[in-house]
Amino acid sequence: MDEKLRRQMLAYTQRYDFQTGFLNYQSFQKALSGWMQEGRAGRQVALIWIEVLNLRREFALLGSKGAESLVIQVAEALRSSVDDGAVLGRFSARCFLVALQAPQFDKTERRRIQAIADALSPIRLLGSRSMLEVAAGVAFGPADTKSPEDLMRFASLAASRAGYLRSPSVLAFRSAMDKDLMRDHQVEMEMHRGLDQGHFRLAYQPTVALTTGQVLGAEALIRWDHPEWGPVAPGKFIPIAERSSLIWRVLDFTLRNALKDAQHWAGLGLEMPVISVNVSWACLRRDDFIRSVRAVLAWLPTPATKLEVEVTESVLFDDEELFARRVRQLKAMGVRVAIDDFGTRYTGFNVLKRVPLDSMKIDRCFIHGIDRSEDMRSLCRTIVAMAQQLKLRTVAEGVERSEEMETLKRIGCDVAQGYLFERPVPAPEFAAFLRSWPERKQRLGFAYDGEAAEPERFIAC
Ligand code: C2E
Ligand code: CA
Ligand code: CA
Repeated sequence: MDEKLRRQMLAYTQRYDFQTGFLNYQSFQKALSGWMQEGRAGRQVALIWIEVLNLRREFALLGSKGAESLVIQVAEALRSSVDDGAVLGRFSARCFLVALQAPQFDKTERRRIQAIADALSPIRLLGSRSMLEVAAGVAFGPADTKSPEDLMRFASLAASRAGYLRSPSVLAFRSAMDKDLMRDHQVEMEMHRGLDQGHFRLAYQPTVALTTGQVLGAEALIRWDHPEWGPVAPGKFIPIAERSSLIWRVLDFTLRNALKDAQHWAGLGLEMPVISVNVSWACLRRDDFIRSVRAVLAWLPTPATKLEVEVTESVLFDDEELFARRVRQLKAMGVRVAIDDFGTRYTGFNVLKRVPLDSMKIDRCFIHGIDRSEDMRSLCRTIVAMAQQLKLRTVAEGVERSEEMETLKRIGCDVAQGYLFERPVPAPEFAAFLRSWPERKQRLGFAYDGEAAEPERFIAC
């Protein structure tokens, strides 16, 4: 090759992305830094971060031909939707950058930004009816930051939020997004430390058969006592853990300790209840989930039939097929499966019919005040009738008052759980609860079944 041409090509590849002709990341950053310097002289910069969400799928379906066609279409649409003054860049295979300059990003200018994203929406995937899916975020300099690096970070944050929300618009960066990210990161770090240093523990809450008052199970609920922050509610840290591999550590902790505690209760001569463990979809969907559960079960003498996995109803909307497969795998091992928070997502009969579940936990919001509302009673009756047809055991969550319990008995609900029976308590207290329950349950109108009892005398009316 001619030396001059070789040098020219080298210089080109050092500055540009070969596929699109856009600036590569380093050159884009340099151009952006230059603009931000000028920003001090009164000009503002908008940085748009665009991610093609279905590029990987296109690659899987059609190979590099499909992916390349998509990238070229995106590049062309972007090029024709911006003025000459705009700077176009490529950060990674699926991420494009657009920088604009204006004296001020007022309403008209912001509409121009939206038009850039809109220009991408007619793009179709090669040989398919599917459309391009993008997530776009924008950050403004110097309004959001004077630093080019932070501007990139902020625009990417806004884009990842747009991807999460599946927002069809360009989302503008808000400082709360940065704060949320920092806070989530800190919680993650603290959770790792807490798991290493023993700041987590389990609490157990009984489930009680409504006909006999017998304790059937114990739901293991994680508790975090942070040395400085105090107790942190699971609702605050589980969703953060679910966004990273931390949730896997949570599952391992819960599963091991719950089965160990159950074994310990059995060793004390108590009847071992079925132990329910909450499993996030992020864990259940993993390829090695079944292997990991099997490994924990092999490590302890606790039989698989004493374990129940609770999975929230919303998973049925993520991947019904995969969920059904996991349920079948668990059932083949002897593990029970319950669908949690039922009623919050309106899963139909036909969907449930395809998944061989054992129990259905009716969400607390349908139970609270059920004795005072005919609408709620009739809704619950419908849920119970549906569960009966599917041969599922029904468990009412969050039962706090005896009137609620009596109503649930009349409706035909099988099992109840809630503060009325016991709050979630640490393992040693749960053992004490199991011991005292045969006597305590009489106060709730159940028959005493302790050894010294004369059965007839205590039969509830
Ligand atoms: P969930 O599985 O629906 O758990 C029941 C929640 O209701 C628990 O809240 C429990 O303390 C609360 N509860 C029980 N009885 C009553 C009652 O009578 N009245 C009221 N108002 N509340 C009652 P908690 O422990 O704060 O847990 C919240 C959620 O966090 C759980 O909801 C579950 O989705 C999740 N979670 C808890 N532990 C774990 C865990 O180990 N792993 C995973 N992945 N998620 C967990
Ligand atoms: Ca649960
Ligand atoms: Ca629940």
